[in-house]
Amino acid sequence: MTLTTVQVAVDNATIHFDKLYSYRIPDALLGRVWPGSMVLVPFGRGDKPRMAVVLRVEELDAGAAPKRLKMLHDAAPEQTRLTPDLLELVHFLKDRTFCTWFEAVKAVIPYGAQYRAAVVDGKPVMQSRLSRSTERVYTLTGELPQKPKPGPRQKAAVEALRKGPLTAHQLDEVGISKTTLDTLCEKGVLSVAEQDKALDLFADIPYEPQPITLAPEQQRAFAALAPDLEDGKPHAALLHGVTGSGKTIVFLKLIERTLELGRKAIVLVPEISLTPQMIRRLKSTFGSRLAVQHSALNNTERLLQWRLIQQGHADIVVGTRSAIFAPLQNIGLIIMDEEQEHTYQSESAPRYDAHDVAKKRAAMENSLLVFASATPMTETYHAAESGKYKLLTLTQRYGGRPLPQVDFIDMRAELAAGNPREVSTRMIRELQENLENGEQSILLLNRRGYHTVAMCASCGHVLKCPNCSVPLVYHKPQQALMCHHCGHIVRPLPQLCPECGGKLNYSGFGTQRVEEELAELLPGARILRMDQDSTNQKNAHETMLAQFGRQEYDILLGTQMVAKGLDFEKVTLVGVLGIDSLLFGQGFRAYESVFSLVTQVIGRGGRAALPGRALIQTTVPNHPVLQLAAAQDYEAFYREEIAFRKFGLYPPFCAFCVVGFVGAAEGTVAMAAHRFGTLLAERAAQHPQIPLRLLGPAPMGITMLNGKYRYKLTLKCRNNAAFRSLLQETLDAYAQEKLPQKASVILDFNSDGD
Ligand code: ADP
Ligand code: ZN
Repeated sequence: MTLTTVQVAVDNATIHFDKLYSYRIPDALLGRVWPGSMVLVPFGRGDKPRMAVVLRVEELDAGAAPKRLKMLHDAAPEQTRLTPDLLELVHFLKDRTFCTWFEAVKAVIPYGAQYRAAVVDGKPVMQSRLSRSTERVYTLTGELPQKPKPGPRQKAAVEALRKGPLTAHQLDEVGISKTTLDTLCEKGVLSVAEQDKALDLFADIPYEPQPITLAPEQQRAFAALAPDLEDGKPHAALLHGVTGSGKTIVFLKLIERTLELGRKAIVLVPEISLTPQMIRRLKSTFGSRLAVQHSALNNTERLLQWRLIQQGHADIVVGTRSAIFAPLQNIGLIIMDEEQEHTYQSESAPRYDAHDVAKKRAAMENSLLVFASATPMTETYHAAESGKYKLLTLTQRYGGRPLPQVDFIDMRAELAAGNPREVSTRMIRELQENLENGEQSILLLNRRGYHTVAMCASCGHVLKCPNCSVPLVYHKPQQALMCHHCGHIVRPLPQLCPECGGKLNYSGFGTQRVEEELAELLPGARILRMDQDSTNQKNAHETMLAQFGRQEYDILLGTQMVAKGLDFEKVTLVGVLGIDSLLFGQGFRAYESVFSLVTQVIGRGGRAALPGRALIQTTVPNHPVLQLAAAQDYEAFYREEIAFRKFGLYPPFCAFCVVGFVGAAEGTVAMAAHRFGTLLAERAAQHPQIPLRLLGPAPMGITMLNGKYRYKLTLKCRNNAAFRSLLQETLDAYAQEKLPQKASVILDFNSDGD
């Protein structure tokens, strides 16, 4: 006698307690439960129903099976199951990021959100949260009989369907009624099927394929990559091209080749705001076998897009980092555009880096992986330089267009001249000139809000968030002080210091304030402000960028969201404001991010027929990072940066792992960090062959966040199996510790130490 048992990982476990639990399969569910199945199990005290994922199915000898195994309650339908490749990604995330099994599952499939436990007839069952929505889809299956003579509507319907199946709704829009369609179905000309509503998210984008003619440099890059696409083996490459060199065109050509080979492609972009532009390009070039995955879709949209991919209806998937988990089969090509963006690193569990997942997936699928950027991450460029990735370089802008001319505006002189504003006189003059010429401008100020600091004029006290150790920011529309981390609001706006009763001074300029200055100094200019506050409505990015593209605005002012990827032909002036504070930021990536941000935003100008220019306002015009960004000289920057990384022992010369400790009482948190450090050091001493340097404990840059204190240990290490098992042992030992109060532990391999 054998007994079929499953081992599951349950939802809402913690990293200290993420064991596998065994259950029996009731007869009714036999044949429906596999590794990767989502199930409902009785769990914990009171046997409350809880979601879980099956990781193993085992046939046990009835005698050997543990006594009193509980039964599974229910299993979700087959199509929600993690396929073996997705399950492999779950294992990968678990191993690399120290998340819980279920956190990994939720990252990989959006089904975590789709099912919930319910009780039907006294029995716990899994219930879909989504109401199924289907629609009728018509397909042409025969020719229209000529007798009796068909009417014009019938002919129109057949013509419309020649290009491919359409939904009843789409046909209705072109004036074809249900009656006509019913008649044609009866005649056997059409067939009809009920399908999941495939939400045509891209219906309004026309399909207008145009032949792609590559410039010589682009052609060389494509020719070097094509064999790697064709040989069916995994490869990785870095496409390093100056801004405006036409990296996107090279992508299109690579995708075209991928589709010709009968394979599929994933295109990753760093931000939701960049998906519409990429989708537009792809839909107009390749038609509608396209799907999108990102977090701004609502649950239904996201799920339906997911299902579309899973059922094989999409050849190309576009999206932000989570799209790397798309249930696409036969992936020939993975592109990661603007690969230097930190948004490719997840900041909540599982704290994965999409670069690593993409490498893993490319290896599993035998795909070509292309990282692309004008300013690659130092680690990526180093890997390319040392031969791990093939390096392709585009040195020229498309059409021989020059890179923008860059000038500095010394804000010390501006201050000395008594200008109290954030926008310099020269900047205003040049903006004015652009206005008169009917050209557009982009201004970058990476700070939102109106005033960024409220400080007492007598005692110097700075108003901070009660929950987070950061200054509160004045937001004019709300007439309130707001915390950008936890959302805490102080209203009415305080005028006096809460410490000494002195007068509060508001200073520091954010985008709202600069918008006001511009409106004052450039009457008649149409200004579009784009930051987190102005884009929190659904599709706001898309709408705004489209308006700017139609030249309904003269100036686009915004935070880093205006710096990347945008391609507008009328933009000839780029202004950089308030960059200095970023130069003195924390973490070993500070220079790299400023260099990248400035280079990228400058690169938005002069991309078409009109030449571009850029102005950088700063009090440190001789700062080497700004100088190199102005020269758009990535290689020179990289040389400096890689020397610094080597000297200070930073990635890529080691891996960086930050172990964070979070809790309500500062003493407890500090003690936990200290204790963990000791446990780790003891274990490391037994394994002297594992390279490890331990720094800290120390409070994090933002010591308090959301009312919790935060400490960290920084580990410089090599992120291999031996190190990870050392870390796991330490975590297990820490879980056994008898501390009066424990702090939660967060492991982060992506953090730059702050
Ligand atoms: P990048 O992503 O490298 O900054 P893009 O791919 O956005 O650059 O290209 C910059 C501009 O040049 C775009 O408007 C693009 O359409 C145009 N362009 C680049 N290469 C070609 C080409 N081979 N044919 C036509 N237009 C091109
Ligand atoms: Zn706060």
